[in-house]
Amino acid sequence: MSNSRIYLSLSEQSGFEQEYISKALHNNWITSGGPNVDDFEAQLQNYYNEELFVTALNSGTAAIHLGLILLGVKKDDEVICQSMTFSASANPILYQGAIPIFVDSESDTWNICPENLEIAIKDRIKKGRKPKAIIAVHLYGNPYKVNEIHAIANRHNIPIIEDSAEALGSSYKKKKCGTFGSLGVLSFNGNKIITTSSGGAIISNSQEIKEKAIFFATQSKDLAVHYQHSEIGYNYRMSNICAGIGLGQMKILDENINKKRENHKFYKDIFDTIDEAELFEVLNDDYFSNYWLNTMLLETIEDRESLRLAFEKSNIESRPLWKPMHLQPIFEQYPYYGNKVAEDLFERGLCLPSGSNLSDEDKDRIKGVIINFFK
Ligand SMILES: *Cc1c(COP(=O)(O)O)cnc(C)c1O
Repeated sequence: MSNSRIYLSLSEQSGFEQEYISKALHNNWITSGGPNVDDFEAQLQNYYNEELFVTALNSGTAAIHLGLILLGVKKDDEVICQSMTFSASANPILYQGAIPIFVDSESDTWNICPENLEIAIKDRIKKGRKPKAIIAVHLYGNPYKVNEIHAIANRHNIPIIEDSAEALGSSYKKKKCGTFGSLGVLSFNGNKIITTSSGGAIISNSQEIKEKAIFFATQSKDLAVHYQHSEIGYNYRMSNICAGIGLGQMKILDENINKKRENHKFYKDIFDTIDEAELFEVLNDDYFSNYWLNTMLLETIEDRESLRLAFEKSNIESRPLWKPMHLQPIFEQYPYYGNKVAEDLFERGLCLPSGSNLSDEDKDRIKGVIINFFK
């Protein structure tokens, strides 16, 4: 049996990526924007199969930043953000000079907690600081409690940026993640469901928002013969070369999601026989997860670390869950509303290898470590 490293999540190629890149090079479309970008956006729009508009950008982080700008978030405004997430969900709040307000997770979906969200909103309003936006995340591809969270946001008339960076292919009550919020965000980073090497997108419901997003993403050029700018501009548009990779990747989008879900089945079969650990599974059939990463909980932080080291010894990568933002040195000064659910998940949780490229041999090695650890 080979002992090559098994990574958490690596993407595969369809084999068509090269063709699209070559075409871009041949036609000398080596810039941001271009025919591949237009086609990639059109295919994504078609994938969502609704009256939605997709704007391709050069990262998911840029998409969240532009999302905040499009929603009018300015210096000293407050923005609520799920604490249990990757830092890219929260950093753009600071780029705007705005103030992040962190909200805990709940234990059903590990995502933003409806009760604490409502408490946070009411408390900020009482302080005369009504939040300008909410960033909710479908962590690890698992949908958050969409109905409850959006009902609360609607009641207070606060827009939601739906961070679907990890949730391409996931859905809630048969409606795709990324389409519920005022704006949806996707990432095409190297470890996501499909990759453009680096890339992201904003999903919105109007051509006008899309045009405004492209305007900001291409240095906010006013309509003039010369270079004229009356707003801050950004260099956030997706490159035509990267979009070529994306077009190749679109051919295996469904296949990747199926493979991810097969990985989940593989882990479920193992963990069904183990009492000391719990594999994350969606609450019920309303939730359809792409299972971007499979995650599990152990009984203690010590167990979690022992299992991680056991994997490491067999050259298999596993990692603790995202460390909550309100515990991060860069964010710990900001308000937090919660009951330490995210802390507990962080201590006891582990992400398991979940790449769409896991071979049968890889799975045998992974299974061997788990069975041996719990026996
Ligand atoms: C990957 C990711 C992002 C950022 O996407 P990039 O394309 O890497 O900038 C944002 N939010 C979450 C939850 C992510 O996992």
